[in-house]
Amino acid sequence: MPSSRRAFLSALPDKPQFRPLGKTGLKPSALGFGCMTTSDATVIERAADMGLNYFDTARSYQSGNNERLVGVALKGKRSSVIISSKSLAKTRAEALADLDTTLRELQTDYVDIWFLHNKSTPAEVTDDLLEAQRAAKQAGKIRFAGVSSHFNMPEMLAHLVQRGQTDVALVAYNFTMQPDVTAAIQKARAAGMGIVAMKVLAGGFLRILRGDRLYGINPNSLSATLKREGAMQAAIKWALKNNSVDTSIVCMTDADQLQENFTAASLPFTPADEKLLSLQVAAISPLYCRMCGACTGVCPKGVPIADTLRILSYADGYRQFALARERFLELPTAARSIRCQDCSTCSVHCPNGVHIRQRLIRAQSLLA
Ligand code: SF4
Ligand code: SF4
Repeated sequence: MPSSRRAFLSALPDKPQFRPLGKTGLKPSALGFGCMTTSDATVIERAADMGLNYFDTARSYQSGNNERLVGVALKGKRSSVIISSKSLAKTRAEALADLDTTLRELQTDYVDIWFLHNKSTPAEVTDDLLEAQRAAKQAGKIRFAGVSSHFNMPEMLAHLVQRGQTDVALVAYNFTMQPDVTAAIQKARAAGMGIVAMKVLAGGFLRILRGDRLYGINPNSLSATLKREGAMQAAIKWALKNNSVDTSIVCMTDADQLQENFTAASLPFTPADEKLLSLQVAAISPLYCRMCGACTGVCPKGVPIADTLRILSYADGYRQFALARERFLELPTAARSIRCQDCSTCSVHCPNGVHIRQRLIRAQSLLA
């Protein structure tokens, strides 16, 4: 181990930082464990032993196998950890059936937070689904009701606060986002909602091992830029410097990532981090969709652009090809059958510099 790394690790904090989760009374570690991409139960066990107490999964992750893995890893620790799961169901009956499966797979009688998953317009948070959450609470199967949103956070948070039925919001939040997302989070938190941040690493492009000729730039230089030392840790510090973010779910697949992220979550955001992230923003802008929503409904053929780019980031950014393909196959059949290769030019412009057509062609060739 290089001496600089040894020195870094010897300065490790031995306890995580905890924050109150809105008005729930729960106190999760600021660094939570997003289990979506984890396939090694020992990494989850180790995180719990280090004092992290918040673990997030979903019914749909890893074809339903992720909850099972989390259940095994946290067996015997149930009373000292906070577990959240999610359902993509669109009706009350389906959602409640999902929840029963979730509880069985997690080997528990209740989940602490149960999210209606991937709702990015107010219309998707139906009365029927809210009723499912109320019924689940009454039955003691969930402690708190949540909603997760990948896009359109300002509108969604305002809507959820106004409806007053949601205890916790799980929102995409990272250093590439505009100040309106930060402001919306602060407002929702001030109204008492618990805030959990996801997508904190903005696609995890650190872990791309090589560049891609589709981006039209030198692949080696792109890789070098994206693998900049410390960028992912700076991203975690950036999200947590917002005091309205109660916790974050950061995906971790091995002990090294766990250790580095654990340390990052205890350190302040510095001017050096700021510099690193502004370079990172420039480097990832052709690749990374900031989920601003400006391209929603713009493609004349109906490609769900932001959803497809988010799914592509699972393959390109996190190196989780199977997960990306699984999510891609959940898109509507008509949307999946469109080929951007057939358009000579793309009529959709991304104000944030994403090379939309190139990225979609890549997604379609990899995942369709
Ligand atoms: S592709 Fe660009 S315009 Fe579309 S949501 Fe992403 S960042 Fe916004
Ligand atoms: S290239 Fe652009 S306009 Fe054509 S299908 Fe793809 S997203 Fe739509």
